[in-house]
Amino acid sequence: MRPDVGRPFHPAARVFVAGGDTLLGAAILERLRAGGFRNTVGVPPQAPDLTDAGQVEDFFAEAQPDYVFLAAGKSAGIHGNQHHPAELMHDNLAVTTHVVHSAWRHNAAKLLYLASSCCYPKHAPQPMGVESLMTGPLEPTNEAYATAKLAGVGLCQAYRRQYGVNFISAIPANGFGPQDDFSPEDSHVIPGLMRKLHEARRRGERTFSIWGTGSPRREFIYSGDLAEACLVVMARYNDSEPINLGGGNDLSIAEVAQAIADMVGYPGRLIFDTSKPDGMPLKGLEASKLRELGWRPQTPFRRALEETYEWFLRHQAEDARHVRAAV
Ligand code: GDP
Repeated sequence: MRPDVGRPFHPAARVFVAGGDTLLGAAILERLRAGGFRNTVGVPPQAPDLTDAGQVEDFFAEAQPDYVFLAAGKSAGIHGNQHHPAELMHDNLAVTTHVVHSAWRHNAAKLLYLASSCCYPKHAPQPMGVESLMTGPLEPTNEAYATAKLAGVGLCQAYRRQYGVNFISAIPANGFGPQDDFSPEDSHVIPGLMRKLHEARRRGERTFSIWGTGSPRREFIYSGDLAEACLVVMARYNDSEPINLGGGNDLSIAEVAQAIADMVGYPGRLIFDTSKPDGMPLKGLEASKLRELGWRPQTPFRRALEETYEWFLRHQAEDARHVRAAV
């Protein structure tokens, strides 16, 4: 299956990043820019509203992208997943069906769908390999979102089977980096702890409470490195089976919290609120296929944390200026 012959993935290609304002989408756009891709289309704020099938269809008819990175759809951390399951599932199902369908109708050479490591069963053998997908119950805290993401993988496979298109999917580890959601409730663990520890330091709080037991482990991967992996996969991977995007840093939540506390200069004591859920105990990804394609992470964990924190501080300052200008 090589519909991309004649329209190779190189800097002259027309590329659409669906979800260019998400953590991963923004990082992919940045890597494309750095790689000399000049024909990116639908870049925010010019992006269509992906929840509106008509807008997506009109956009594809006019822009005719050759390559589509599908990094769209709302996402949230463990608390947001528990409290907005319908919103997360509906949004992801809607944007995925709209983009996949229009990409097929308008002959995109290739589409890469980004799923999530929460697609794996809660107790999948570690590190998790794609053969474990759909073999057991999902983690209840993110079941709705994970079901929508699994539907996205299945949708790409169905379009492949029925229409012979080169639509592939990938399953990234826990990404973090600039442009993440830093809201205290809905964010993932790294931006959430970064903001809350930053504020606890400013307020001089002597103890800081971390959700859960601190013992779950996560594989964290910097969004810039993850974006590079997406470009490698777009250029070199052509199978129906999803490919894991792992190879980051495997850390317990307690270790991550300590690393962030050290970085923001929080001197207090970390305590654990075991009334809050842990989510999946382990989430490591088996990523030998990605390594075979030649990708390696480039950014040490500490530097990745620092770049994320710098972005947060800058952004916070900008937000504060906007508020001042508005009053
Ligand atoms: P997950 O990887 O899908 O479980 O999502 P998260 O990134 O939201 O959470 C990862 C782990 O970090 C869970 O075990 C949480 O209980 C734990 N955690 C500890 N403190 C926080 C916090 O302030 N925010 C979030 N989102 N998670 C936290």
